[in-house]
Amino acid sequence: MTTAQGAAPEHHRLIIVGSGPAGLTAAIYAARAELAPLCIEGLEAGGQLMQTTEIENFPGFPKGLMGPELMLNFREQAERFGTTFVTDDVDEVDLEATPKVVKVGPKTYTADAVIVSTGATARMIGLESEQRLLGHGVSTCATCDGYFFRDKELVVVGGGDSAMEEATFLTKFATKVTIVHRRDQYRASKIMLDRARANEKVEFIEWAEVAEVLDDGTGAVTGLTLRDTRDGSERRIDAQGLFVAIGHDPNTKLFTGQLDQDENGYLVTQAPSTRTNLEGVFACGDVQDHTYRQAITAAGSGCAAALDAERFLASIGDLPDASVDANRDEAEHPTGAATVGA
Ligand code: NAP
Repeated sequence: MTTAQGAAPEHHRLIIVGSGPAGLTAAIYAARAELAPLCIEGLEAGGQLMQTTEIENFPGFPKGLMGPELMLNFREQAERFGTTFVTDDVDEVDLEATPKVVKVGPKTYTADAVIVSTGATARMIGLESEQRLLGHGVSTCATCDGYFFRDKELVVVGGGDSAMEEATFLTKFATKVTIVHRRDQYRASKIMLDRARANEKVEFIEWAEVAEVLDDGTGAVTGLTLRDTRDGSERRIDAQGLFVAIGHDPNTKLFTGQLDQDENGYLVTQAPSTRTNLEGVFACGDVQDHTYRQAITAAGSGCAAALDAERFLASIGDLPDASVDANRDEAEHPTGAATVGA
């Protein structure tokens, strides 16, 4: 097999596409099993945590740490055991072929197994001020950031289940949470909407969209300009935090037509495994999970994907000669020694 440019493709046992907590955990486990995985990490490597500030709920870090620092730790750990990285975006895949084909610019890679961990992207309103204040009062994750908004007045934008859930959750910390929605019909389920409506700390502003996020020169959110979606009139409200809860888009465009997706575009896996509809292709992290969407759950599914891939490679006789099957040995026969897997 040759590429269009005539160069032979570079073959790997396992290619991991994506480098958030799911992809890098898969890389750590696969590398420790001596599969020498290739991780195509993307130009914006590290996933959604690269855009967050402090993380306090990732187990093992009692003092918390910054999102980018956590992801650099993941990467360093994956590299230490023999993961190779390509810092570029995948342009095209053929996952039905044998071996599987992954194209990155002029280069073609092939693999016996592929783990897809391309994540999901939180939808944003699209304002310059929203982008600038992301991590400084603007957030897309109440579970991650709610704790930092104790005794503050907050706004949640959206009219779906996420907006209702986030607003209700944020009332644990905030003095007041205002849900801003662009019309008076809600996509949210009745039970979630009723729960938010029954919460005395939650207020609703309908027929409104956020026209500007204000910081009054402080570098942190101080208020919002709201625009009436019927007559275009604008007004200011005070708020110290804006939670954008207008949905997520799974990053699955590359795989459309090859990997089964649900009605929202998320990859479908054969629970409780990470297997997709194609043999030797596994999916983990937010690209196949619109329910939990946490770094720790993504990491857990990345571990599962690596173990599934390892078993698949063993079943086709493609494990390294001196494979120590390190992960499974330790899971089944924990030694308690200081340097083994968890
Ligand atoms: P969603 O159902 O797609 O709702 C997105 C909301 O954001 C809609 O109300 C939409 O308004 C609004 N919106 C979209 N773009 C906007 C923009 N540019 N500016 C202002 N508003 C905008 O998304 P979701 O709430 O994230 O839910 C996704 C899926 O996960 C759903 O199936 C949901 O049921 C599920 N979910 C379930 C739970 C739970 O059961 N615990 C929790 C969270 C999510 P319009 O209605 O006007 O289009």
